[in-house]
This record gives sequence, C-alpha cells and structure tokens, in this order.
Amino acid sequence: MHSMASIKTWFTDFYNVLSPRFCAICGEKLNTTEQKICSACLIRLPYLRRTDFLDNEVSRLFWAKIPIERGHSFMYYHKKGPSHELVMKMKYNHRPDLCQWIGSMMARDLVQKHYFEGIDAIVPVPLHWIRFIERGYNQSYYISKGISDVTKIQVSTSWAKRIKNNETQTHKTASERLINVKDAFQARSRIPARHILLVDDVTTTGSTLIALALAILKENPDVVFSVLTVGKALD
Ligand SMILES: [Zn+2]
Repeated sequence: MHSMASIKTWFTDFYNVLSPRFCAICGEKLNTTEQKICSACLIRLPYLRRTDFLDNEVSRLFWAKIPIERGHSFMYYHKKGPSHELVMKMKYNHRPDLCQWIGSMMARDLVQKHYFEGIDAIVPVPLHWIRFIERGYNQSYYISKGISDVTKIQVSTSWAKRIKNNETQTHKTASERLINVKDAFQARSRIPARHILLVDDVTTTGSTLIALALAILKENPDVVFSVLTVGKALD
C-alpha cells in the first residue's frame, strides 16, 4: 500500500542515503522521524521547565532594571555536556537552520502557555558588523525567525544596532559585564511597538539584554519587554 505518507517516508529515506543527517549534539545518525537532534539527546537537555514567567531565575535578572513582563530560557547552559554542545553548534558551526529549529521548538511549547500574548515584535540581540562578517549570520536572528514562524510576530532587525564589538563576556563579573556592554547598542526612535520580546542565545547575568533594552528605552520610553533565550548560564 502506498499512502502519501509512506511515499514521503520513502523519499526521506532515499534522501538520507544520499545525504545522511546527524544529531547536532552527539553526532549519531538521525532516524527518519528525528530532526536536527536525536531523541536521546533531546531527553538529556537540562530544561528549565518553568510555568511562572513573571517570577523565575530569568525574569528576576531584570527586576528594577528595565520594565519587564515575562522572562524564560529553554534550558540551563552548562560549560560541558549536551547544552554546551548545542550552543557551540548554533554559534560556530554555521547552523542557522539549527537556530531556527530550536526557536520554533521553544515557541510551540510557549504558545500553549500564552507566553507571547500582547507581544508586538521580536528584536534579536544584534551582532556588531565585524562579528557578523566573521560568523556569517546572527544566531539570535535565526532563533527569532523560528519563533516568528510559529507565532507570526514580526522580527525587527532595523530598530537597534550594536555599535561596540564587545561580545565576549566570559571571565567577567556581573558588574564588569554591565560596564562592558554599556553603550554597546543604539536604537532608533518612534519604534512602532509597545511590548517587545528580546531574544538571545545565552544569558548569564542579563547584562547584554539590559543594555539593549536601555538603548531602546532611551529613544522609546514607553516600551516594555519580555525576554527569551535558549540558554541560562550560571554566574
Ligand atoms: Zn544525539
């Protein structure tokens, strides 16, 4: 019997023989039902599993610093293990497809929890142009695009830009990080949105997202924010 589904599976199998697909985390061959990450690795990811988006370890980073509505991260980001492997692939292995896929996966879960209610636009953390040329793409843009595919909320890359090339925050304390990214961003005025979702790959102390929000607020004092990142790193 040849239903459309079995023909589709046959073509997928055939495609895999010609171009085998591998798990972005462990490197094992994916089976036909798996996409990007194998089911064994998906189970092993250290998910945050929060349902209170107003008060959790992500949203609390922003309290009293910017007008914050909701905050969440998909998983904890550890210095080794599957979460580290995933973020390294997203950033340094030219995998915009992986970023977009993760964005959609996060969004499908969060849509059911009303995470995106009232949000007018998504702003990915911009890369400095030098970094953009080095990497070839902005990972946060593709995460945002994946979220937009599910939510249909527009992604805006023209409202803010990064004017200081200081992405590396490793080995810095919370206050050093804040000073490091201060004035890193510049935003335009009269942004046609009230509630903006800021998106980044990983946050530690929230300093980059806070600096971006402050730059937007400087020109648009009535804007409020929610934040969403793939990883939440520990200090
Ligand atoms: Zn795997």
